[in-house]
Amino acid sequence: MSDIEVRMDRMSWVTYAERIKQEKPPVFLPVGALEQHGPHLPLGTDTLLSTSVSESVACRVNGIVAPALAYGYKSQPKCGGGQHFCGTTSLDAQSIISAVRDTVREFARHGVDKLVVVVGHYENQWFVTEGIDLALRDIGSSSPLRVMRTEYWDFLTEATLTKVFPDGFPGFALEHAAVMETSLMLHYHPALVRLDLIPREPSADFPPYDMYPPHTEWVPPSGVLSSALGADAIKGKAMAEQVADDMAAAIRREFNL
Ligand code: ZN
Ligand code: MN
Repeated sequence: MSDIEVRMDRMSWVTYAERIKQEKPPVFLPVGALEQHGPHLPLGTDTLLSTSVSESVACRVNGIVAPALAYGYKSQPKCGGGQHFCGTTSLDAQSIISAVRDTVREFARHGVDKLVVVVGHYENQWFVTEGIDLALRDIGSSSPLRVMRTEYWDFLTEATLTKVFPDGFPGFALEHAAVMETSLMLHYHPALVRLDLIPREPSADFPPYDMYPPHTEWVPPSGVLSSALGADAIKGKAMAEQVADDMAAAIRREFNL
């Protein structure tokens, strides 16, 4: 980690404006959620992790990390447990689209020409995509702004996944509050993890369709979709460093840094 401040909300507007003008840094916009993550992880896990990943990458490419959009699209039973959990606090699709559209347009107005939108909540992805698309339409093709959007876990390589999941990878949808997120939280925010409260129950087994209103009994009562028992900080560090290195390389490549 370098000593240079990476967080936009801790800079004065003058410092921010100078850096945008002189360094043309990549600016990161994490997009998370406020959503149950079992009894052992905090509600802000998706926001905390998308922010921490953004900060790790920003340190590698001299970037600036904007405050996260900290509420996400409605939690779905098969990937986030669903909307029936107390504490899960979600937005309508239109609100996410508008928040992304407005913030992207503002960064363009600041003179940002490299924006990296880091999604940390599975359900957000198409609404974030729509917000970026509408913002680019708003600002027009003469703007130099280019946007990279990623779900940070997509950077995980086969080699890393094999190391972290020796018994087989359950897939990112079921990886809710499970080994990946718990291990990353143990790396980035160990004080917020309660290992002693990790549930001991089998993985959720969903049919290939959804029902509305949802059958909440399909979802394990703890809110954890597959076991987090294999989580540890070493796996978290391995994932965090591989993702940050590879995301930094992708940013250098796409933005010619
Ligand atoms: Zn999550
Ligand atoms: Mn989520």
